[in-house]
Amino acid sequence: MLKICSMEKHLLSKSTFIRGVQCLKSLYLYKNRYFLRDKLSPEQLAKFKRGTDVGVFAQNLFPGGIDCKPKSPSQYRMSVEKTREIIQGTQSEVIYEATFQYDGVLIMLDILAKENGKWNAYEVKSSLKISETYLMDAALQYYVLKNSGIDIDRFFLVHTNPEYVFQNDLEISELFTFVDVTEDAISKQEFVKTQIEKSKKALVLKSSPKIDIGSHCNNPYPCDFLGHCWKHIPKTSIFELKQWSNEEKFELYQKGIVKIEDLKPDESFDPSKETELEARKAGKPFFNSCKFEAFFQQIKMPVVFAGFLGYTKAIPEWKNYKPFDVVPVSLSLQNDPSSGDHNFFNADPSTDPDLQLFEFLKNNIPADATLITFDGGTFTRLLNGLAARMPDGGQSIHALAGRIIDLKIMFDDFIYYHPDLRNDFSAQKIAEICKIEGEGILPFSSDTLAANAYRNESSNNKVTAGTAIPFIKYTDYRAAFSRLLYGFFKMKSENE
Ligand code: SF4
Repeated sequence: MLKICSMEKHLLSKSTFIRGVQCLKSLYLYKNRYFLRDKLSPEQLAKFKRGTDVGVFAQNLFPGGIDCKPKSPSQYRMSVEKTREIIQGTQSEVIYEATFQYDGVLIMLDILAKENGKWNAYEVKSSLKISETYLMDAALQYYVLKNSGIDIDRFFLVHTNPEYVFQNDLEISELFTFVDVTEDAISKQEFVKTQIEKSKKALVLKSSPKIDIGSHCNNPYPCDFLGHCWKHIPKTSIFELKQWSNEEKFELYQKGIVKIEDLKPDESFDPSKETELEARKAGKPFFNSCKFEAFFQQIKMPVVFAGFLGYTKAIPEWKNYKPFDVVPVSLSLQNDPSSGDHNFFNADPSTDPDLQLFEFLKNNIPADATLITFDGGTFTRLLNGLAARMPDGGQSIHALAGRIIDLKIMFDDFIYYHPDLRNDFSAQKIAEICKIEGEGILPFSSDTLAANAYRNESSNNKVTAGTAIPFIKYTDYRAAFSRLLYGFFKMKSENE
């Protein structure tokens, strides 16, 4: 029998419960000192905007349901009532955004469906696998559902199937994978109950709980109160060191070692730690000429400098694509290190991107050329994906992916280091510190924002020769940056 629970305003939702599991102080600040929250970067905002499409699309798995989503946050009571009425009545056996409240927690379940006389719950995630946080989310929902009086039989997490390959039509039953997490949810019920109690107690405190910074600040998500809680950490702190793990940094922090200058070398340090520490303390750039030699020996002529922009989508749109495969947008190639002559590719969003890109690569990259990029992980993923989709196994494309040299390794492997970079190894920061002349004002400040802009432009095939210019300009800049950075390192090695 469905219980009619008291309808006082809820204290927790799925997201605030998860926030409290990560850190009760974060929950307290979010609810009581919201103004202390860090400003979200444009990249974070763009990421948050994604994900909802998959949940709505997954409703097609159970067609004909009734949507109980409140029209505004203040109308959640109506949604709880509406959900209850549908469950008790005969209007529908499928409910989208089924809304329940119990123990001060409000949940909205993606899909509730009655199958063979039993109610099953489905929570959809725009992801290729399930995580511990998703399991916790499911356990909370199971707790609220069960205690609301609905006899849930099974609880499923639904995520995109990494093995699904799009052919001519989207096969929705193949696109999603169902994972029955009922037993895991049951095993977490005691924890959920206790955590709700702890959260409620934390929320009524007069001041925020005394919780120090720790690895929980970035796990499972970067907390949005870092600016507030970390303000006692000086600018040049041990937390900027790259060769130390998070655990090692917090061990030092617990011992009161926070400033880099307070960290003394000891025999447990490996050479890379010693080097980083010395460079940071000396405040001078560091250049490992031996490692540099070895790095550059892999580069075979001719070289081509590449700047690339692509994006991923949970629901594939093109033949032979899998969920989250990289879709190309724009590629700029500069063949001559001195002149910067370039060729560029910009995908026509109305036709298969693979055929367009394959032709471009074949015609514009000399056989056996080395491709030099900066932060080229997505480009490598694209080429490997393209190779796998080619009817002949894409050996030439696969080989091309193997010839990519990513200059970011120079920074990641500590071959070159400039103390003013601190721990920001973005192209913009490196260009500024290494005085690499750019192309003036860029249309986008990061790959995320550029890809997001393209997604918006291409959703209705609005990308035309004119609107494509900013994307070409962006990848042109990235190719030029690789070329100039390569020149910078060459000059360094000659002067050493
Ligand atoms: S920054 Fe860390 S300590 Fe502060 S609220 Fe966030 S998780 Fe908690």
